[in-house]
Amino acid sequence: MSRRPLRIAIIGGGIGGLTAALSLRQAGFEADIYEQAPALTHIGGGINMGPNAARVLIRLGLGEGLLREGVRPASTHQRRWDDGRTLQRAPLNPQCEELYGAPHVTIHRADLLAVISSGLPLERVHLGHRLLGFSDKGDHVEAWFDNGVRIDADILVGADGIHSAVRAILFGDEAPKFAAASPIAGSSRSSASPISSSSSVVSPGSGRAAISCITSCRAASC
Ligand SMILES: Cc1cc2nc3c(=O)[nH]c(=O)nc-3n(C[C@H](O)[C@H](O)[C@H](O)COP(=O)(O)OP(=O)(O)OC[C@H]3O[C@@H](n4cnc5c(N)ncnc54)[C@H](O)[C@@H]3O)c2cc1C
Repeated sequence: MSRRPLRIAIIGGGIGGLTAALSLRQAGFEADIYEQAPALTHIGGGINMGPNAARVLIRLGLGEGLLREGVRPASTHQRRWDDGRTLQRAPLNPQCEELYGAPHVTIHRADLLAVISSGLPLERVHLGHRLLGFSDKGDHVEAWFDNGVRIDADILVGADGIHSAVRAILFGDEAPKFAAASPIAGSSRSSASPISSSSSVVSPGSGRAAISCITSCRAASC
């Protein structure tokens, strides 16, 4: 008897959510992403991505797009703002490739999101969906959005950033802002992206519904 595929809902279409969806897809799972913004064109500047993060994206098949849209800086030079004195200077490329097997990449945030989402089917990215709440139904999670849409999911992943609504609903005022909190043992069903710190909660009495909370993923650099 064939089992129906797991319904995985990822809240947030930032660097963490999109990469989690792509990682799941490559592991044989389809995930739907629910992003509050009307488009994946986040305002922002350059993202500096260390070789540990670049390596993850290259393994996900995004190397060509990453190196096309980004640059491989030769070195970094940090100066004190008020007198220009050098604080730090370090070589980056090609040393990173030689030492760590992947380059240090600097890329505009919007370009990075475009590269990651290029690996996902468009119909899986639901824009204009701001999560308002969710409820543990025992064998699944029900979630609802500001546009009136309600969905059922077997797994709900919170990848909605530093002011995470998922984390606030799960942990309330006790929600840690930066650390991964794990008040209940992690779920073997949870689907943490390899690039994100995460904690997860399994609903009591249920082997199926799992709520996973990715906390403050640091630009694919974990
Ligand atoms: C100025 C600045 C510079 C930075 N530079 C670097 C750098 O050089 N290198 C580096 O590694 N990191 C950098 N960072 C950190 C990096 O941006 C974050 O670590 C990273 O964006 C976190 O990714 P994320 O997917 O967890 O969250 P986010 O990128 O914040 O994405 C969360 C997504 O969830 C969506 N969302 C939020 N609430 C809801 C909701 N209720 N319903 C639906 N969707 C929702 C948001 O619209 C957003 O798209 C920088 C951060 C800032 C602010």
